[in-house]
Amino acid sequence: MLSVGARFRKYQCRGMKTLMVFDFDHTIVDENCDTWVIRSTPDKRLPESLKKTYEKGRWTEYMGRVMSYVGDQAVTPESIRSVMHTIPFTDGMVELFTFISGHKNDIDCIIISDANTLFIDWILDAAGIRPAFDKVFSNPASIDNRGYVTVQCYHSHNCVKCPINMCKRKILEDFIEAQDKAGVEYKWTIYAGDGSNDLCPLKSMREGDIAMPRKGYTLERLLLAGVATKDGTALKPRVQAWTSATEILSELKALIQ
Ligand SMILES: [Mg+2]
Ligand SMILES: [Zn+2]
Repeated sequence: MLSVGARFRKYQCRGMKTLMVFDFDHTIVDENCDTWVIRSTPDKRLPESLKKTYEKGRWTEYMGRVMSYVGDQAVTPESIRSVMHTIPFTDGMVELFTFISGHKNDIDCIIISDANTLFIDWILDAAGIRPAFDKVFSNPASIDNRGYVTVQCYHSHNCVKCPINMCKRKILEDFIEAQDKAGVEYKWTIYAGDGSNDLCPLKSMREGDIAMPRKGYTLERLLLAGVATKDGTALKPRVQAWTSATEILSELKALIQ
């Protein structure tokens, strides 16, 4: 039989970390990287006929058409990449991820975004904050042999509340389950986001966790309107709105110190 000390050490070995979950567009960056790409085209705007093809809940397919248009304008992947490097970060985010990079023993950090892996990778690498992140979950994108960016849907799922290509709750639940199997358990989770697709994952969070909607954006409005509770599922995490990522950093420091 294990002594109390040995059991405690075993528990410690299993590792109780804090999990930070971030949306990307209008959360980590202060813009939408999918629409930012239009700046790489000669006209710096999309033809109306193309804009009209967007159907609600089918953003990724629409972006596929946008990326073909960008490719047709002879825009190279290199120039898209340099345009991505000009996207502004939200206030305090770079400092927050620099802090997280220095505390990887205590903090895991993931992105769950409906943008795409290519743009996110380019932006994180350019800012030198890549080491903060353990995983980026987004629609897979690559450059084809014509030099066009192509985007695929992340997954299919059964959630009726979410866009067809991505349920952030399913991604979060699957990640936590896989980590648990690998021996990593999370004591707390903080989720920061701004959009309507950031509501679903908050429903799987636990008491003591912190849901952080960006002040003045859709997610905060939905939470203030009580949308999460209307369908009978009361939210368990504490809700704390933020304007600058400095406020997210304060919550994080309070959890780990
Ligand atoms: Mg967003
Ligand atoms: Zn969902």
